[in-house]
Amino acid sequence: PSRQEISYFGAGPAPLPTSVVEAGAKAFVNFNDCGLGLGEISHRSPTANKILDDAKANLSALLDIPDNYEILFMQAGGSGGFSAVVQNLVSVWIERRRRRAEADAQAANPGAEKSQIDELVFQRLQKEVEEELKLDYLVTGSWSLKASQEASKLVGSKYVNVALDSRKANGGKFGTIPAEESWSLTPTKKEGGKGSAFVYFCDNETVDGVEFQQFPKSLEAQGQDAEDERLVVADMSSNFISRKVDVSKYAVIFGGAQKNIGVTGITIAIVRKDLLPPQTATPPPALLHRLNIGGLPGPVVFDYATIAKNNSLYNTLPIFNLWIAGQVMADLVAEFSTQKVSGQEAVANNKAQLIYGVLDKYPQVYQVVPDASVRSRMNICFRVNGGDDVKEKEFIAGAEKRLLQGLKGHRSVGGMRASNYNAVPLENVQKLVKYLEDFATGQ
Ligand code: PLP
Repeated sequence: PSRQEISYFGAGPAPLPTSVVEAGAKAFVNFNDCGLGLGEISHRSPTANKILDDAKANLSALLDIPDNYEILFMQAGGSGGFSAVVQNLVSVWIERRRRRAEADAQAANPGAEKSQIDELVFQRLQKEVEEELKLDYLVTGSWSLKASQEASKLVGSKYVNVALDSRKANGGKFGTIPAEESWSLTPTKKEGGKGSAFVYFCDNETVDGVEFQQFPKSLEAQGQDAEDERLVVADMSSNFISRKVDVSKYAVIFGGAQKNIGVTGITIAIVRKDLLPPQTATPPPALLHRLNIGGLPGPVVFDYATIAKNNSLYNTLPIFNLWIAGQVMADLVAEFSTQKVSGQEAVANNKAQLIYGVLDKYPQVYQVVPDASVRSRMNICFRVNGGDDVKEKEFIAGAEKRLLQGLKGHRSVGGMRASNYNAVPLENVQKLVKYLEDFATGQ
């Protein structure tokens, strides 16, 4: 079949706008008639730099990213993204405390040798790491679970506080986000504690179809004191640029490109600048070695400070992949002009409502998996006839006959999943809706 004939609802990699892939095919062969394709030019060439600057400018425009944030283009996917967060924000936690410990040690021991001060700093940090280092995770689905497991593996599970495991209140299954009062976040200074290095959540759980409907109230900044602040990290791999986001509430937003933004191979991180040098530098490697926290110091390619300092060109960046992402963003900026990402949000919401609408119309036939209060606009997960194997196979076979593809749920949960990313055309959603109607009514 041709591209136009199929309707693809895969969860990622996901469809891209046809205009972008067609232009991409040309750019891969001979970019702007320069005689070389984008996979072949230097990442340090003026052409590559312009692609990078344009992509940054368009992402900033779409999401209204404030000036005190840095946009980083990295690799290693969403999974690399959650490893990088641990490496960087635990380093920030240590560096902030190292500076305080050093200032205190110098004040208490005027004229002391550097080696003496270093020893005092080490002793104090060792104690603080042991007693106070905490990484808070809200586990609401498979991806935040994986991220929390990665953190446990990297730094050690004793430092990881699973502040919420939504399966506990839901018979062992994901599909809800329990009330914030039930979360056990590490208390901030204002709450009588020492705070955590960061609080992590996955804004949209791709496998389980669970999306945060708004920014959690308990993660809002509590005061001016740095220790009253929660450094909030969100994985937006599967709902990036699909709705308005108040970037200023986050320390780090990251996501792999291969769902809403482009092709695999680019990970975007939006990082608050005060978490980077000069305000916060990476702690000295020798100190990290002595503190012996797993995963630290970590690989240089995950080090936000290094990537920022080199304008995302510390090592070879896949410029073709970046160009694709840049085109998608530029097209959204052009299409929605002053509305920016809110324009795309309205489109996404409308498409999601069409699909949920027909699913809810036939509750005997279709059962949406997550609770109605946390339904994802991007990944619509449902069962057919309560998960009846024969019926679900029949559903998939009927869909394939109509060239409706990629509807099978993730292998870990089964069932159906219709992914409604930005580039899924309304027309394809309408075809799916028609099929859902026809299947439910036996046509
Ligand atoms: N986070 C989310 C929300 C995802 O949906 C995915 C992949 O589907 C990942 C992280 C992991 O991404 P990657 O396969 O690029 O490592």
